[in-house]
Amino acid sequence: MAEQPTVLVVEDEPAQREVLAYNLEAEGFRVNRAADGEEALMLVDEAAPDIIVLDWMLPSVSGIEVCRQLKMRTETRGVPIIMLSARSEEVDRVRGLETGADDYVVKPYSVIELMARVRAQLRRTRPSTVGERLEYEGIVLDSETHRVTREGQVLKLGPTEFRLLTTFMEKPGRVWSREQLLDRVWGRDIYVDTRTVDVHIGRLRKALCQFGGDDPLRTVRGAGYALG
Ligand code: CA
Repeated sequence: MAEQPTVLVVEDEPAQREVLAYNLEAEGFRVNRAADGEEALMLVDEAAPDIIVLDWMLPSVSGIEVCRQLKMRTETRGVPIIMLSARSEEVDRVRGLETGADDYVVKPYSVIELMARVRAQLRRTRPSTVGERLEYEGIVLDSETHRVTREGQVLKLGPTEFRLLTTFMEKPGRVWSREQLLDRVWGRDIYVDTRTVDVHIGRLRKALCQFGGDDPLRTVRGAGYALG
């Protein structure tokens, strides 16, 4: 089973919000709900969603403003945003405003179509959450079966090492700080010392080289770790 992605649904109409959340949950997504822009901005920091479905017309802070703010911040810039709006002229306007939204859907939308759009965005940003196979220089990670091979040989990997490797393989070359790895792999609610990260990186290195081959993980002094 692939890792469950978290979707933040921001919609002020309770009925619409519930239909959307219900369908996403039925598809295996973890769902956080926000009824207005302010709550959305707060939840983004708390829940660290993988994707946001954001209604344009919201009380207090509008969807456009939420989008603009999130795309300005380094920590949230990479989270895809699908903007919902009532009319296609609005979509044109939102596009024109260069809010940085990744996709736009006009209401009334078909839930099936919206799901497809959500998946398309995740395939790009969090491929492991939609069951994609990740590959990097002879290492193949199958997020559906949790199997990892290197040059065709099956590697023995603990669950934490598997999640670490998934994170690295989704963005080869990206340098991850220990704190970012803690957030991504252990979750924000759990208290774990940053040294724990080093211990598991050590185990992952050993696991990756159990049948030989070079160590693909790079230690970046003062910054963290990267794959390649
Ligand atoms: Ca609305």
